Parts: sequence; C-alpha cells; structure tokens
Amino acid sequence: MPYLILSDIHGNLEALDAVLTDAEGHYDCILCLGDVVGYGADPNPITEWVSQEATAVVRGNHDRACSGEESLALFNAAARASAMWTRRTLTDPNRLYLQQLQRGPLRIEEPLGSFMLVHGSPVDEDQYLTEAEEARLLLSRITERVTFFGHTHLQGGFLLGTQGVHRIQPWRVLQIEPDYHYLVNPGSVGQPRDGDSRAAYAVFDMEHQTVEFRRVEYDISGAANKIRSAGLPEVLATRLYDGV
Ligand code: ZN
Repeated sequence: MPYLILSDIHGNLEALDAVLTDAEGHYDCILCLGDVVGYGADPNPITEWVSQEATAVVRGNHDRACSGEESLALFNAAARASAMWTRRTLTDPNRLYLQQLQRGPLRIEEPLGSFMLVHGSPVDEDQYLTEAEEARLLLSRITERVTFFGHTHLQGGFLLGTQGVHRIQPWRVLQIEPDYHYLVNPGSVGQPRDGDSRAAYAVFDMEHQTVEFRRVEYDISGAANKIRSAGLPEVLATRLYDGV
C-alpha cells in the first residue's frame, strides 16, 4: 500500500491542491507529520481536509502553538504574529481537532512491517534534525527501519549504517536496504526552505521498499496574496517565492 507522506502544510491550500493533483493515483493512504497550520492563510480548510483525509497525524509545534495557550516566546516575530492570527481565525471544531492531535512518535503497523512518524525527531518532537551528527546520536533510539520526520522543511534526511551517517539526496527514488536505518524527511508542502520553492512531499511504497521524493510547482502568488490580504507579515509571503 503506497503512502502519501505530507509534512508542514502550514495552512497553504494552493500548495496542498497542487500536491494532491500531482500525486493522484499514486497512493492509497495519507499520513501527516504535523504543522498543519501556522504561517499560511488557510488554516481552517487545511485542518478540515487533514481531519477528514489523513489516516494518521502527529502534532507539530505550530499545531500546539496555534490551538493552545502555550507561550510563543520561542517563536520569531513573524511566527508569533501568524500564531496569534491563526488562534483568532480557527473555528472551535478545528482548534479542538488540533489540540487533540497525538504527540509523536507514532508507529504505523501493516502486514508488510512497521515504520515510525515523528514531527521533529524520535526523542523530541521539537528537535530540528539538520546535522548528520545529530542523526548519528539517535541511532540507538531508533526502533524501526524507516522513520519519517518533518519540522526542518528540508527534503531528504539521513541514512544510518555501521559505516556512519550519510545525507539522503532527495532527487531520486530511495531504495530501502535492510542494512541501514533511515530518517526520511518528505520536505514541506506549504513552506519549503531548501531553496526550491516547489511544494515537497514523498510517496512511500512498502511493498517495493521505496521512497519517492517529489516536488511540484503551485500557485505561489495565490498563497502569497492571501497572506497579504490577511494582514500577516510580508516576509511570510515573500519567502514562498524563494523557498527559504
Ligand atoms: Zn513547520
């Protein structure tokens, strides 16, 4: 059963629409690695879609911040402004849905095996996993062959073996080998930060043990104009064009 792996949608409906069109027919089931909302101007449609369509979801830090009362002190000015705006904009049912999202890690079990979903890392939902050394330190804590993570908005991830840790280059189909462990980041649907403005996602095929990294262009102007119309910080609109 191929899985559509989505992370960091961040209220970007234009990006999600493009991903779903691009991925149509290539998956049976949708999994989400958190940060459904925050930054983007469509938190309600995105939350409703995730609540209806995703089979499993782990919460992200923005989902917590935008639906709860927790301090925004660690957020930068733009993130804080968008979290405040999202708190005011979310409907009660959507706020409740986000509040009740499960903290990762979340194990997905199926007849062919199991794998893990987390937002940040297997040990800390808020950890930014960007360096190979950080990934290496997690090896003893990883229980599954494949763990999907998000949070950094950087497509790719890490391959962990006895010879060391290597970055996964996301421009090809990744073949899962039995001798390694994999920390795989599908990239961000709604706010890519790896210099490529296209929406990012992945398709995981358990049967063939492959992860296909994909990118798709979307209506950036449409998403950016909604951010401006909502009165959100300008940087949240302009960064979408640059993919940073
Ligand atoms: Zn995020």
